[in-house]
Amino acid sequence: MTDIIIIGAGTAGLTAGIYAARAGKSALILESTAYGGQIINTPDIENYPGIAHISGFDFAQKLYDQAVALGVKVEFEAAASIQDEGAFKKVITSGNKTYECKAVILATGAKNRHLGLPREEELTGKGVSYCATCDGMFFRGKDVAVNGGGNTALGDALYLAGICRKVYIIHRRDKFRGAETDAEKLAKLPNVEFVLNSTVTALHGEPKLESIDVTDKTNGAVRNIPVSALFVAIGQAPDNGAFAGLIRLDGKGYIEAGEDCRTNCEGIFTAGDCRTKALRQLTTAAADGAMAATAACEYIDRL
Ligand code: NAP
Repeated sequence: MTDIIIIGAGTAGLTAGIYAARAGKSALILESTAYGGQIINTPDIENYPGIAHISGFDFAQKLYDQAVALGVKVEFEAAASIQDEGAFKKVITSGNKTYECKAVILATGAKNRHLGLPREEELTGKGVSYCATCDGMFFRGKDVAVNGGGNTALGDALYLAGICRKVYIIHRRDKFRGAETDAEKLAKLPNVEFVLNSTVTALHGEPKLESIDVTDKTNGAVRNIPVSALFVAIGQAPDNGAFAGLIRLDGKGYIEAGEDCRTNCEGIFTAGDCRTKALRQLTTAAADGAMAATAACEYIDRL
């Protein structure tokens, strides 16, 4: 039996693994896709204390290597459900494998939100993308658009401005939610245009994206902008439905837990973007990973 099973190998989950291993507990991380979580899509991290610049991919790789070197095991399987057997828990994967452990940490993060527009799914991979660092290079020298006003959208736009001919940033308000410093950098770039108070209302092109319609919310005017790519960066939504029967979620699907990272279920903890919290950042994900693992170790020691 493993001491702690951590579900999710993003910043929160890998940090939890590091803290669990350093506390002398065995830790297994179950990850449904690739390790690193959302941060692998961030071109340049500038707000992690002590590191002035690092790419999200490099950050994730270092974190993963650090956890594995400490003895944390990682299996690439999706956790489909948890059974609470009191003093131990069973984690059942989508492949019907069962793992037993003393404590669980849910660090499931969040998934990219989609616009919900007609043809969005069909054009995904044909101009519509949710990851500028993954797909930006395909549009080198082309005109592209970024939709969103948070840190992801601004970071994506900065990255794309370095490789694309023109970058439109379409945001539904007149002010960005993301870091002021990034907005100021973008405002100075000659190949960046802000399209504010506007939403993307239609996607055109056959078989690839060729243009988008953008509607100005203040006067209803529709502008057609020819672009080869639209990078959608309108935030994330949690994906905790599989655990809803056991763990209390809030109205938006986030796991209800405070700064102590304890859920309503004894022996099940949570960390990172998947839980209710005011600030979702790398630093807060790492802090949660440390807290959840420490709380889980204390819980195991009391069993
Ligand atoms: P976010 O902060 O939630 O921002 C989402 C943006 O999309 C907001 O500007 C929002 O508009 C807009 N939006 C939401 N739904 C929309 C819709 N249906 N149509 C059009 N626009 C919509 O998401 P994020 O930028 O992905 O960032 C997620 C978290 O990760 C944040 O806490 C962020 O700070 C963090 N992050 C950190 C770093 C870093 O530390 N370096 C890098 C990237 C992200 P409104 O402003 O009107 O709500």
